[in-house]
Amino acid sequence: MADKYKPMQAADVAQWDAEVGVLVVGFGGAGAAAAIEACDQGCSVMLVEAASAAGGSTALSSAELYLGGGTRIQKALGYNDTVDAMYDYLMASNGPQACPEKTRAYCEQSADHFDWLEAQGVPFKESEYPHRAMMALTDDCLLYTGSEKAWPYVQLAAPAPRGHNLKVEGDNGGPLFMSVMEQAVRVRGIEVRFEARVLRLIVDSSEDDPVICGAVIRQDMREQMIRARQGVVLCCGGFVMNQAMLKQYAPELMKATVPIGNPNDNGAGIQMGLSVGAAVINMHEGFVSLPYYPPATLTYGILVNAQGQRFINEDAYHGRVGAAVLKQSGGPVYLVMRVEDYDGYETQSYLDAPIAGTGETLEELAAELDLPEGQLERCLETYNRFASEGRDPLFHKSADWLEPIVGPVVAIDCTPGRGAFFPYFTLGGLDTTVDGQVKNAAGTVIRGLFAAGRTACGVPRRGDGYASGTSVADASWSGRLAGRSVAVNERRSSSE
Ligand SMILES: Cc1cc2nc3c(=O)[nH]c(=O)nc-3n(C[C@H](O)[C@H](O)[C@H](O)COP(=O)(O)OP(=O)(O)OC[C@H]3O[C@@H](n4cnc5c(N)ncnc54)[C@H](O)[C@@H]3O)c2cc1C
Repeated sequence: MADKYKPMQAADVAQWDAEVGVLVVGFGGAGAAAAIEACDQGCSVMLVEAASAAGGSTALSSAELYLGGGTRIQKALGYNDTVDAMYDYLMASNGPQACPEKTRAYCEQSADHFDWLEAQGVPFKESEYPHRAMMALTDDCLLYTGSEKAWPYVQLAAPAPRGHNLKVEGDNGGPLFMSVMEQAVRVRGIEVRFEARVLRLIVDSSEDDPVICGAVIRQDMREQMIRARQGVVLCCGGFVMNQAMLKQYAPELMKATVPIGNPNDNGAGIQMGLSVGAAVINMHEGFVSLPYYPPATLTYGILVNAQGQRFINEDAYHGRVGAAVLKQSGGPVYLVMRVEDYDGYETQSYLDAPIAGTGETLEELAAELDLPEGQLERCLETYNRFASEGRDPLFHKSADWLEPIVGPVVAIDCTPGRGAFFPYFTLGGLDTTVDGQVKNAAGTVIRGLFAAGRTACGVPRRGDGYASGTSVADASWSGRLAGRSVAVNERRSSSE
């Protein structure tokens, strides 16, 4: 793979085909934001996109945006969220891999970033979606999209809803988000090239400290040399569509079943960074989901593993639960619930998991499931005893979701690979400074090279701590920072 992306030496460029201040690679959420900011700082910008239209995975997404610390909408709806509470939550949920500097900056600038998005034309309604859901399918805005109200985070940081859904009916946030961002790019007159794939970076090694000064693109069946005086910003997305990279860096993630993203989520940006000595971090991590709600009533159920044992508080965010399922040591995973709580599953759920068994009684159900004898009964006896007191001493599920589970009962099969929908995408990428400069293994920045969005390793760092909205918000925010940072980069002299 390395050879394919081997950089070209500037000295070998016979003729430059075009020259700009800033070359932004990839027209998804991060690339759009980077191009807008660099342009607003007075740079000439070229945005190149391999696909025939703007969008990337951002346009495929719901574009929930995880923003807080007192956004306009949070304030209007009476939520007193603070930067510190948001920071504490993200630091705890991103665990040991969390980057304190990035997380602090993201939280401090979050409300401002919301205002910036609104200023670009991204629409939000002053309203709340008060249900436990993967996303709001109405045009309502504010909802909980993480595990803020669930143990252990509820004890570590003051919860607040931080998911901001766009003002659009249905699951249409991503297309709307990208059409607004594209319009914001267009009105600035930024040069956009579609069906133009960046193949390699161009390096000027004539100085002691090599500098990235452009890229080779393929467009109209021809390789073209684009010179970028201030730098190149890689915003090419992640690597979930690259099987070889997944096998190399994130084999555990492949236990999930459906890689989600656009076909160009093939790690090209990361590979181009690697080709010039960049460091990659957190490459094993990814978002994975067991999308078992809606209907929210499935949260009354319990998840059990091959030993018939629970392993998580089922009121956590679906990504945290999905990551916990993948960590089980093999064998079946079942979600066991009362039949009355199953109601709505077949019409509302994204999960698609088949029924594993049913029973008028727990014993009947247990007999149908492939579990060690008596284990499910014992597990439920303990669960039910405490649930009737509104407690869950083992996993601390909130009392709001505790009801004794008695027959008639049903179990759905959440075993990875047996039909349940387990989507995933990657969270690792190039190591960057807060303002988007790409670092090498020694921690020194590579001159002229910037990265944002999922090409970089950003704020979201763990599958078991992920909150919906941290990707598109982080991509657009980190894109802006990279755009501002490349804009103040030393303007190298023109080739002419
Ligand atoms: C179905 C789905 C739902 C999701 N829902 C949410 C959500 O609600 N909230 C959230 O925060 N996150 C969500 N995500 C994740 C989120 O969409 C992505 O992580 C994020 O949008 C990535 O943004 P990006 O700008 O880094 O990459 P992209 O938006 O993927 O943009 C990268 C662009 O680079 C282009 N490109 C790649 N290689 C090259 C090359 N060599 N030359 C030129 N162009 C190139 C690609 O074609 C693409 O257009 C979801 C993802 C999916 C798939």
